[in-house]
Amino acid sequence: MHYDEVNDALFQAFPSFFEVIELDLQYYNDDYCGGQYSVAARFVDFLEDCHSKGDDETYRKGLLFIEQLHQSNWRDVRELATVGYLESFLDWSEKDKLANDLGDESKRWWLELNLFWQGKIDGIGQSFRLQQGDHIEHEGKTYEYLGKGLKATGSKTIWRLSPELYFKCWNCGYFMNGDPQTDDRCLCGILNKSSGYGRFGIKQGDNTIEVFQRV
Ligand SMILES: [Zn+2]
Repeated sequence: MHYDEVNDALFQAFPSFFEVIELDLQYYNDDYCGGQYSVAARFVDFLEDCHSKGDDETYRKGLLFIEQLHQSNWRDVRELATVGYLESFLDWSEKDKLANDLGDESKRWWLELNLFWQGKIDGIGQSFRLQQGDHIEHEGKTYEYLGKGLKATGSKTIWRLSPELYFKCWNCGYFMNGDPQTDDRCLCGILNKSSGYGRFGIKQGDNTIEVFQRV
C-alpha cells in the first residue's frame, strides 16, 4: 500500500469511521501531508471511543491496521504509522495497557516513541539505527550491514559494484543487487543502476544508500 492509498484502505475497512469523518475530509485534504496525519489522529480518537464503549472487535481490528502500516516497505507509510497513528495515543488515559494490545512491530515503535517523549533519545528510530557489522533478515536471507555511501564499498571515489553487494533505497526499501552487468531501478524510481553507462546512484545523494553484503 502506498502512502496516498492509506486513507482509502482505512475507509474501506472501517465504514463506520468514514461516516464519522466524511464531512470533514474536504478540510483535511488541504493539509501539508495530504490529510493522512489528520485522519490518523481522528481514527485514534475513534478507536479509543470504541474501546470505552466495549467494542473490542473494532479496537483490535484498528490496531491490526496500524500494524500492517508498520510492516510496509515504504518509509513514509511506516512513519505515518508511528508519528501519525501511534503518537496520537500518547495522551490517552488508558495508554499503559496499549503496549500489550499492539502487534510486534507497532509495539517496538510505541516503546521507541515513549523513550523519545521521555527525553531518553534524541530522535525517533535512534535505537534501531544499524551499526556496521549488524546482520539483518530480508526476504528470508541474511545480510551484513557495511555502512552508508560509497565508502562502505571500500572505495573513496567511485561506487565499487559487485554481485556480492546489495544497496537499499531509503524510501521504498528496495534491495538492489550490485551486479555491474545488469540494469535495475528501485520501486520508487530514485535509485538507479545502468550497466551500459556504468552509472549508479540516487537523486538524494549517495550517502543515503545503505550497503549490505550477503552472508
Ligand atoms: Zn526507492
